[in-house]
Amino acid sequence: MPSELKIYNTLSREKEVFKPLNAPFVGLYACGPTVYNEVHLGNLRTFTTFDVVYRYLTHLGYKVRYVRNITDAGHLTDDGDGGDSKIEERAKLEQLEPMEIVQKYTTSFHEVCDIFNLLPPSIEPTATGHIVEQIEMVKRILARGYAYEINGSVYFDVKKYMETHPYGQLSGRNVDDLLEVTRELSGTSDKKNSYDFALWIKTPDNALQKWPSPWGEGCPGWHLECSAMSGKYLGHQFDIHGGGMDLKFPHHECEIAQGVGADGVVPVRYWMHANMLTVNGEKMSKSKGNSFLPKELFAGEHKLLEKAYAPMAVKFFMMQSHYRSTLDFSNEALQAAEKGYAKLINAYSNLQSLVYSTAAQKNEAEDKEINDLCEQIYDKMNDDFNTAEVTAVLFEMSKKINSFKEGHIAIGSIAEATFKRLKDTFTAFIKDILAIDKADAQDDNTAEGLMDLILALRKDARDKKDFATSDKIRDALLQLNIQVKDGKEGTTWSKN
Ligand code: AMP
Ligand code: ZN
Repeated sequence: MPSELKIYNTLSREKEVFKPLNAPFVGLYACGPTVYNEVHLGNLRTFTTFDVVYRYLTHLGYKVRYVRNITDAGHLTDDGDGGDSKIEERAKLEQLEPMEIVQKYTTSFHEVCDIFNLLPPSIEPTATGHIVEQIEMVKRILARGYAYEINGSVYFDVKKYMETHPYGQLSGRNVDDLLEVTRELSGTSDKKNSYDFALWIKTPDNALQKWPSPWGEGCPGWHLECSAMSGKYLGHQFDIHGGGMDLKFPHHECEIAQGVGADGVVPVRYWMHANMLTVNGEKMSKSKGNSFLPKELFAGEHKLLEKAYAPMAVKFFMMQSHYRSTLDFSNEALQAAEKGYAKLINAYSNLQSLVYSTAAQKNEAEDKEINDLCEQIYDKMNDDFNTAEVTAVLFEMSKKINSFKEGHIAIGSIAEATFKRLKDTFTAFIKDILAIDKADAQDDNTAEGLMDLILALRKDARDKKDFATSDKIRDALLQLNIQVKDGKEGTTWSKN
């Protein structure tokens, strides 16, 4: 019997069987980056987690709408309603327009996602593109009596809300904790209570990002954009909401209150939180100065790095831990992952070259072992996306594949259907689910090397006036969409 997918729901603190609201459709939302600087490797761990969730649900046959936003306004430096806008601060520093900052770091984020083989989401909405929806949501919250306006800002009335609804359930905070935390954060604000949070923030006259609203010029509060955009594209209630563990409070707690406050429905059915990437046990974060960028990692250019690491080996390193465990970065751990990854990819390429042949004595025990592995790998993945255990099964499968390749086990000793199952399962996990098969930059170097060699051979042919051979090479390359140009400076090539 195949197992059912279970998801650890942060809200209930239990693994629950996943039952989508409207199967086969699944609504998945993940908080995206605030595009005021480059994403670091910690951010990337969280985005990779939800890419795997998206890919696995799709693999299971669900029609997933994956929404991951871009925060391009409203996120203030204290992550609440105090401080300056992170984007504006950066714009002033770099002497650029806020939208230039947004464009620059969105492009760079997409490049990193591509290198890491993360799929683009189905919808990637921006906060600035949904100001109208956010204003409408504030109006609905006001109309239901869960917010108040003071001096051009609108705050969510947490005390009023708590009279009839739980608040703090997701993060496990009670009112005393809230008072404690928010007292530290609160500055000179007009709020009735320090734990109230901003829905709409009046901006100073010289603000670069501001919009007209019924309450005057201002900008939306950070928590509001995710509520407005998830509601718009996935409905007032949807299946899965994800983000990093550090977003549980206040960001996600506020999202729940906003959804209930505006529309009377609990917005999310399953909350998923990815744990932190740490360095020597401390959360990787830009402000702690212990973060490095994916590009620095791939180039090996950072004081924490002994050498360069290939993107797919780094991704495999992440897959070797469960998303709810912290993952500590170290050169030793990465180098171990690099070796493991090379073994796996070697088995993957061996698998491609294996051809089934029936001429062998059947071995039922062997057949059963392989079928069991194919079942186990789904059991592990269905157990709250346990990629750590999945990679362990992949290693077991690799041993079998290599035994076939080396002739220790005759491929015909298992049923043809079993061989096909092994091939399909292994391929699906490497290629479609963990998505760690992408050719790395090293392989591009191989392509460069091969092209150099081919063009050198062609030059030899031309030097010997063997134009038939040189034309044959040129035409064959053209078939591969590679254009060869002979010029005064020598021969160059480009791929169309
Ligand atoms: P930000 O751009 O700061 O809003 O962060 C983008 C995402 O990265 C959020 O979901 C954060 O929770 C997550 N994140 C930030 N730091 C880390 C870290 N060290 N490890 C894992 N995820 C992180
Ligand atoms: Zn969010």
